[in-house]
Amino acid sequence: MTERKVVIETGWNLDNSYARLPKTFFTRLNPTLVRSPKLIILNHTLATSLGLNVQALQSNDGVVVFVGNGLPEGALPLAQAYAGHQFGHFTMLGDGRALLLGEQITPFGERFDIQLKGSGKTPYSRGGDGRATLGPMLREYIISEAMHGLGIPTTRSLAVVTTGESVIRETDLPGAILTRVAASHLRVGTFQYVSKWGTVEDLRTLADYTLQRHFPDVDDVENRYLFLLQQVIKRQAVLIAKWQLVGFIHGVMNTDNMTISGETIDYGPCAFMDTYDPATVFSSIDIHGRYAYGNQPNIAAWNLARFAETLLPLLHVNQEQAVKLAQDAISDFTELYHCNWITGMRAKLGIFNEEVQDESLIEGLLSMMQKYRADYTNTFLALTFDKSEDTALFGTTEFAQWYELWQARLDRQHEPKDSSQQLMRNSNPALIPRNHRVEEALEAAVKQGDYSVMKRFLDVLSSPYAHSPEQVDYSTLPPPSTCPYRTFCGT
Ligand code: AMP
Ligand code: MG
Repeated sequence: MTERKVVIETGWNLDNSYARLPKTFFTRLNPTLVRSPKLIILNHTLATSLGLNVQALQSNDGVVVFVGNGLPEGALPLAQAYAGHQFGHFTMLGDGRALLLGEQITPFGERFDIQLKGSGKTPYSRGGDGRATLGPMLREYIISEAMHGLGIPTTRSLAVVTTGESVIRETDLPGAILTRVAASHLRVGTFQYVSKWGTVEDLRTLADYTLQRHFPDVDDVENRYLFLLQQVIKRQAVLIAKWQLVGFIHGVMNTDNMTISGETIDYGPCAFMDTYDPATVFSSIDIHGRYAYGNQPNIAAWNLARFAETLLPLLHVNQEQAVKLAQDAISDFTELYHCNWITGMRAKLGIFNEEVQDESLIEGLLSMMQKYRADYTNTFLALTFDKSEDTALFGTTEFAQWYELWQARLDRQHEPKDSSQQLMRNSNPALIPRNHRVEEALEAAVKQGDYSVMKRFLDVLSSPYAHSPEQVDYSTLPPPSTCPYRTFCGT
């Protein structure tokens, strides 16, 4: 083990606003030193946008930062405390295997959390080893970057570095650390923690900090904490609609995995839906389908209600009034979500304006897709390019009738067909990170040390609306399998 070094000239420019919050919000500690760091992948575009020097980051002094063997100037590593409802049950959690190094201030003055995931035990590790393995960290890298490419708010992945140490799971696996970049790691669970174990003043401090960090245009509003609640609800309505529109299934929408910033976080058992079915679940532990595709908007509303509960003491001095304000705000979620969803669905069908029957047109298509087990992404892709696919759906009279209705709908708007097609190209991705492709990339990387498959995949995933020739292969479905795809948590 080497001694920890101070690293310079890589462009790190860290502040520590979180570390200035009350001490009970976190635990200060250094990452556990690792044996032999090796850079597996570095996100050059992201690094540059953060004001980091790509070349310096790849040097030995640069790489050690990504495992915590070296600390950039200004880093004050800490594990954040948070609680959360896991599958509906309230628990104390916290960063059990992650450390916040600090907040990178970019050349444009933006602030991003820099977090190492897999950096060793913390006081919040409970029974866990504080470690992460290469496969799941690369999986997070691929899917989070795919989400970014799809235009969905998300935490980003800056680097994955192997530690040179084995991590014991079912077998010995290569240890790795992911450097995660986020608007912040404030979660619904952060508020739950402070609400349960802090004072009302602590809660106010957290809420003010959050407002300043994510919603700085709060100054003119009458009730700043109601404003906070409404803004978080709004961002989640946008986010969840975007998930639904591309068929993303988060898999573990516990309240600790819901951010206040409105970014997608925690790529554990997530996966993209292939065959359209609202009951789709991939996570091995989601036995009752709590986090099924079609249930995500309801769960978001449930989580937001837990968030609202934490804010009650700040919303109004009178508890009854506070509850009323919270309930009204929460009841807006459904409408806000629906509005975002239907706007997105119209775009997926090339529709610019609004007609009352649009919803039944959309539902008509979706229910046929479910009935004929059509692939969600490829059906919209075929409609975009007006191709009749060789699938059960496309051959039916039911579909032909729907198609007529859709064409008539497009004819009733002023925009020409070309504009509709352009709108559809920009709203229907050429590809998603299909499960078999993700597995193929991970297998080559982890088993053969061949990262070229993953890099090619990342390249096409970075611009899913380009509809370029090299993306065509990636829309192919896997051969039928008797074994349903399964994903796992916390691996
Ligand atoms: P997640 O499923 O990633 O949302 O994690 C839920 C909780 O388990 C969080 O408190 C994590 O920090 C913690 N956790 C997950 N994996 C580990 C691990 N290997 N060691 C310690 N804590 C962990
Ligand atoms: Mg989590």
